[in-house]
Amino acid sequence: MTAPDSQHPRPPVCGHWIGAERRHCLARQDLREYLSGLRCPRHTPAKLANAPEPVPGAGLPAGAWTTPSPQSASAVFDEAAIRSGKRRSSPHVYRAALDAQRPQRE
Ligand SMILES: [Zn+2]
Repeated sequence: MTAPDSQHPRPPVCGHWIGAERRHCLARQDLREYLSGLRCPRHTPAKLANAPEPVPGAGLPAGAWTTPSPQSASAVFDEAAIRSGKRRSSPHVYRAALDAQRPQRE
């Protein structure tokens, strides 16, 4: 197998392997990019997992990473971190990181 080059570019296709039919899907319409590669609407990771498609929207909780600390505040945090030898983090950034890690309740 040779890598695609600029002389013979491969057209974008759905790369899902249909095991029962022993072939790739190769659909060309409405492709979206996923970690596993390009997939058509019938072969998205969510569809294959029998799960609802994720809706576009807010990823991180509102307020996470949006409040920059003033320079003077970060200097204080820097000094405190250097003195303690621990990781540099301000309280609101730490809180935002915790909120981002915590599973969202609905
Ligand atoms: Zn497909």
